[in-house]
Amino acid sequence: MFFRRALAFLPLIAAGPALVAAHDARQETSSAAASAPASASGSAAASGITSGAATLATTYTFSLLSSNPTAIPLSSINAAAATESTIPLPSTATPGATATFLSPPTDSDEVKAWIQEVADTGIEIPFINANMEGGCPSNLDAAKNESNCWWTCGGCTRDTDVVSCPDKYTWGLTYDDGPSYYTPNLLKYLDEQQIKSTFFVVGSRVISFPATLQEEYMSGHQVAVHTWSHPYLTTLTNEEIIAELGWTRKAIKDVIGVTPNMMRPPYGDIDDRVRAISIAMGMTPVMWTRISEYATFDTGDFDIHAGTSTVQDVLQNWQNILGNASEIDTGFIVLEHDLFQQTVDVATGYILPDALAHKNPDFTIEPVISCLNKPLSDAYIETNDNSSNPPVVSESAAVTLSSGAPGSAQATGGSESDGDDNGAAGLRTSVALTAVLAIAGGFVTGLSMLGL
Ligand SMILES: [Zn+2]
Repeated sequence: MFFRRALAFLPLIAAGPALVAAHDARQETSSAAASAPASASGSAAASGITSGAATLATTYTFSLLSSNPTAIPLSSINAAAATESTIPLPSTATPGATATFLSPPTDSDEVKAWIQEVADTGIEIPFINANMEGGCPSNLDAAKNESNCWWTCGGCTRDTDVVSCPDKYTWGLTYDDGPSYYTPNLLKYLDEQQIKSTFFVVGSRVISFPATLQEEYMSGHQVAVHTWSHPYLTTLTNEEIIAELGWTRKAIKDVIGVTPNMMRPPYGDIDDRVRAISIAMGMTPVMWTRISEYATFDTGDFDIHAGTSTVQDVLQNWQNILGNASEIDTGFIVLEHDLFQQTVDVATGYILPDALAHKNPDFTIEPVISCLNKPLSDAYIETNDNSSNPPVVSESAAVTLSSGAPGSAQATGGSESDGDDNGAAGLRTSVALTAVLAIAGGFVTGLSMLGL
């Protein structure tokens, strides 16, 4: 209601970022939103249309029910965007620092212990060769071998994967690749709107932004694992996969005091080998919804920063996602990121306001653990209720990876687009974090905002 009221006032505003934002948002919708409440601003927008933007109206058909009055204008969310000021939080990261992070070595005492931990579970890790870099074209035999259930080439999933929310019109909100400089901007908006999300965090960034991770956790968001250095997991050895997941798990535990039991593979790159290792380490894989080769619930927001997608592309993807969401019997999970200012700007300025304005039916927007109808405490090993939420392999030593037809789809769609009471766990930060910083320092050569 707030946003509709705000939009109604927009024509009275002489100028300013909010008006520009609404103009940009509406001019692309002028053909489709004639009967929508926001159309009042559509007519106002006409006076502000620029010739360049007017061309877009013939290209895009997305229609937003609402946008944030303080949204960054669409014309400013692109690869050439000027750097915005961020909301400061204490951080060990240095703005402007660029470097790389490396995959952890596998011969440390910590990784050796985690390798033994995996072996001790008795879970059989399928013998599947590590893939070459380059995805499906570079690994044609593996791509054709459906028995490996390699998601990247065909979208294969298993019953042990979380791929959607069970209840229709429920959105399991996820953001990947943080914490970042821009995460606080997102957290502020989520807090204002009283929305909770799942954050799939990169371990090397957890030790750069520990306060941001603590803010996520203490605000009641779900924290989950997204590897240490964001590799294609199927290209790694078993030991390297264990190191990637293990160090991230440890960094999170050291910062917020609890250990996540969900993970998302970077790029969705998972096969039965990666699945088995993840499950043996106590982490359930969480994907994003995919209902056909051409209907994957990926906003494509990551590509604005690189200039390979426009924000209009992203909003068109979002519209396609909404259309597909209405077609399936379940809820859905969407891929978005909190790494770049552009991804946060489009989320807080457009996608989330549009989703919040969605009526008849309303969307239920909540973390993945909540959309699975489980308490937030079940998202962490230390606070999980094993009697009501048994780990996926508690029944037997052998992991079950038997069902889920390759490329199985729930419906068809048209998208073309390619993460309570837990406060009681407390924060045990300084000593443990110092330890992980010291240990991890050997394979963190700097702070990077350039990685995926
Ligand atoms: Zn990622």
